[in-house]
Amino acid sequence: MIKLHNKYFKPFISEQEIDEAVSKMVDEVLADLGDEIPVFVGILNGSFMFVSDFVKKYPKPCEVTFIKLASYEGVKSTEDIQRLIGLTQDLTGRTVVILEDIIDTGNTLEEVHRIFKNENVKSLLIATLFYKPEAYKKDYKLHYIGIEIPNKFIVGYGLDYDGLGRDIPEVYQIKTTQHMTNLV
Ligand code: 5GP
Repeated sequence: MIKLHNKYFKPFISEQEIDEAVSKMVDEVLADLGDEIPVFVGILNGSFMFVSDFVKKYPKPCEVTFIKLASYEGVKSTEDIQRLIGLTQDLTGRTVVILEDIIDTGNTLEEVHRIFKNENVKSLLIATLFYKPEAYKKDYKLHYIGIEIPNKFIVGYGLDYDGLGRDIPEVYQIKTTQHMTNLV
């Protein structure tokens, strides 16, 4: 068990399980893309560890870039309005694979779709390492899913609790029944 700030977390997903899930996802993407050179787009901050491990395993040429979500200034945080920053590359005609650390409600994914709609990409594929099916409220197809998890708050492997825990190589789950909205 670990303590981050005032919350306790218990071991949930081991390094080995994560490694196997990432390998499985690489195999699936590879089977679909063959010799096509994809652009992997990581969503910061949470995806940095996943993207790093994913592209190290990817055995063919690829491009890697990152974008970041930022809250609109001057808007109440409860309204949860965000925008993506960092997309500078011309992606016309490219196959883009979004690498997400976790998909929860799908709000972030909706924003991703909104942004990429105008980019004239050849195809937009969504890969998420962790997925909370009970929390997902959107209809966007998730092409590659690493591990499905219950609707409970997790930390580690890039994911934080109020700034802490991103560096932990495995995943921990909160040791209460509280939903993450009670934590932030
Ligand atoms: P969504 O927009 O799908 O609701 O959530 C996506 C974002 O919420 C993730 O990129 C992540 O930053 C955050 N998030 C959702 N669930 C969790 C969780 O269980 N743990 C942590 N640390 N962040 C989460």
